[in-house]
Amino acid sequence: MRLEIFDSTLRDGAQSEGISFSVQDKLNIVKALDDFGVAYIEAGNPGSNPKDIEFFEKASKMKLKNAKLCAFGSTRRKNLAVEEDKNVVSLLKAKTDSVAIFGKAWDLHVFKILNATLDENLSLVEDTVSFFKKQSKEVIFDAEHFFDGYKANGKYAFDVLDAAARAGADVLCLCDTNGGATPTEVFEVTKMVRDRFSDIRIGIHCHNDTGCAVASSMLAVNAGAKHVQGTFLGIGERAGNTDLSVFIPNMQLKRGYTCIEGGLTKLTDTAHVLSEICNIALPSNKPYVGASAFAHKGGMHIDGVTKITSSFEHVDPALVGNTRRFLMSEVAGRSMVLAKIATIAPELSKDSHETAQIIKHLKEMEHEGYQFESADASFELMVLDVLGRFKPHFKLNMYKTSGEFPSPDGEMSASAMIKIVVDGKDETTAAVGNGPVHALDLALRKALCVFYPELKKVRLTDYKVRVLTAEHTTGSKVRVLIESSDGEDVWTTVGVSTDIIAASWQALADSIEYILYKKAGKI
Ligand SMILES: [Zn+2]
Repeated sequence: MRLEIFDSTLRDGAQSEGISFSVQDKLNIVKALDDFGVAYIEAGNPGSNPKDIEFFEKASKMKLKNAKLCAFGSTRRKNLAVEEDKNVVSLLKAKTDSVAIFGKAWDLHVFKILNATLDENLSLVEDTVSFFKKQSKEVIFDAEHFFDGYKANGKYAFDVLDAAARAGADVLCLCDTNGGATPTEVFEVTKMVRDRFSDIRIGIHCHNDTGCAVASSMLAVNAGAKHVQGTFLGIGERAGNTDLSVFIPNMQLKRGYTCIEGGLTKLTDTAHVLSEICNIALPSNKPYVGASAFAHKGGMHIDGVTKITSSFEHVDPALVGNTRRFLMSEVAGRSMVLAKIATIAPELSKDSHETAQIIKHLKEMEHEGYQFESADASFELMVLDVLGRFKPHFKLNMYKTSGEFPSPDGEMSASAMIKIVVDGKDETTAAVGNGPVHALDLALRKALCVFYPELKKVRLTDYKVRVLTAEHTTGSKVRVLIESSDGEDVWTTVGVSTDIIAASWQALADSIEYILYKKAGKI
């Protein structure tokens, strides 16, 4: 019951709109995926650009614990002998033990894109796979557009697999390149291939254009596939690829397969590391790894989860390294606030004087326009404050911000000056930013890093402003929500004021206090 996980974040994932990896980004991704325990990491084509050559040189020196690196390229060109085709030969420069070779499996592509005959395409496949087998490489043959090809000309799609198999391919990977096949089609076609090629590993490579890539890959396994390709966060061209951060826990926790070496407890952390490197926000509703994946809001749900966790959770969040959260909201009611308080101050009973004080203070702040539903970090600090356990790590003496138009320095249109006191020592700094809040954040952290170097890693990852109308509060105010991250944790804080900078300051100050408390083990 083992599946081979083939991660293509660095190759198909790099095709996503808005994604661009530096060589160092790629090396960091290799390390994260290897630590997590995938079997293969597909890492691009060394012939395609100098960046990839540099990457493979550096990557070949890395000591990987679990993963094999794999270079990717196409079958030889039509009018060239395989050993004269520079693109084919360049794959050898990557010095990987495995290569993934894609070839056409849809007759339409053979005629219209390659301008070749059907037989010519078969020899492109056979020659190229043979070439790499003679070099003692493991060859994963990616049959491009296999499912569309099967529908258009089933016999020919199988002829292409035959050609690869004759030449000694180790894996026949069926690619739904356009992403339009349904899970049942994938199951049926994969099963036919499995029956025909019973002694070769069968692979599956799905795109998510119908939102079914994970489901299709799961059904391909039902049909006998043992090798599954995807990208770690499902990133990829158009709607992306099979999301391995969902597929892997589905197969391990629900179906009893072993997909990765080591436990799944690194799953959520790996997702955070990857989203940081890819510079994309991890959607909060992403299964297993999102911040909301185990967040409970409705009062009855929270009541149920507090009694028996499995009553409203499909798996224990700890299995995938995520955590259960109780969201603040009027719907959730008192039991939720109590559950939340219990995580911070377990010694308080629901009838204690302090609990009543916290709830009273919470109501007053909500009336002022604060909302703690997603601002867990500010809520926790508020509880510590009411209990008299909050001792600020710094004191603000003054700040001053200014903006300029036109900007004197390209994007940097604002500056901030700040004076703070830590343990009786004054620190004054200034910074420029692309807006007053950005400048203020940079100046504050610059001042504090002198005392708390661990803050160097902290960054703002999201900033939201909401204008509060009369129904929310008594005056015209804004509510600012700031999401911060240090690459490991993500936390959200809130500020409310009639002045947008003052509201942002409160959320910034809370963000810094929270992580300092957390690092000190006091939250
Ligand atoms: Zn693909």
